[in-house]
Amino acid sequence: MENRILYTYPEDTPVVDDINKGRRHMMPKPIKYIISDNDCWVCVSHAHDKQGYPKKYYNGITTSISRIILQLEDPQPKDHKFQALHSCDNPTCINPAHLRWGTVQDNINDMIERGRQPNRQGENCGGSKLTEEEVRAIRAMYATGNHSYVKIAEIFNSSESNIGSIVTRVSWAHVD
Ligand SMILES: [Zn+2]
Repeated sequence: MENRILYTYPEDTPVVDDINKGRRHMMPKPIKYIISDNDCWVCVSHAHDKQGYPKKYYNGITTSISRIILQLEDPQPKDHKFQALHSCDNPTCINPAHLRWGTVQDNINDMIERGRQPNRQGENCGGSKLTEEEVRAIRAMYATGNHSYVKIAEIFNSSESNIGSIVTRVSWAHVD
């Protein structure tokens, strides 16, 4: 990757970490990101969870930075039923323009819809090669408990055994 400009969100960061439980006051860790070619703000300052979402300790809990940012940009009260959904399918992205509130079901509908697009991101050259984002989506869909290997295989134009290997990490083990 060529040199990228590093940005900080927000400019004069009102995102402040809680005081570190009874110990020393921690300086807030600024949220830093680079802007990718498709205008994703790829967070580079914070550790990601297994699904690739950068996390931050904020208001007493560890939560995804995409959720924190969406709450700041769209401060309607949202309970835990609502997730910060990505229109770009990039879990590392924290661009508020790529985020919106939605339910778990909205999220799954998104994945199904995109999985059915004939021209998915990445190469589309006959072998129906999956992308890393799709591998993550497959595991996330299976983790909901609502989708069988067969169903997911249909959505991603793949085979049942292939989906099984992905879910059990026999294949794509390098994608977390
Ligand atoms: Zn994005």
